[in-house]
Amino acid sequence: MDDCIFCKIINNEIPSTTIYEDDDIKAFFDISQVTPGHTLVVPKKHVQNIFEYDEELAQKVFKKIPMIARAIKESNPDIIGMNICQNNGEIAYQSVMHSHFHLVPRYSKDDAFSMHWGDN
Ligand code: 5GP
Repeated sequence: MDDCIFCKIINNEIPSTTIYEDDDIKAFFDISQVTPGHTLVVPKKHVQNIFEYDEELAQKVFKKIPMIARAIKESNPDIIGMNICQNNGEIAYQSVMHSHFHLVPRYSKDDAFSMHWGDN
């Protein structure tokens, strides 16, 4: 997709701090780090959101996420947890319309968002 910012990152037309890449996915630091190490895992195939995944793509992308999560955690002993989240559609706060997973490392007493549903 010509005007997709994540396609441009995948094609190295826009720089990124890439921590993992293979034929199917690219994992790079979010430009706006919610916590240090905040990473986006992005399929190289341009799909807008989860509703456009077929089983084959889901398998290619989902199976890599635990390995990337572990690598991030092992990179810093201060990481004691991680939120993994994924927004689909403007109503769900998706701002870049190329599907991606947020891996947000959590630190003791960090002030990142709460994803503890039921708090409100
Ligand atoms: P969303 O709101 O769609 O779930 O998340 C999009 C994410 O992409 C945001 O967290 C935003 O900071 C990140 N982002 C937007 N533009 C760029 C960019 O050019 N480079 C990188 N690395 N991240 C970006």
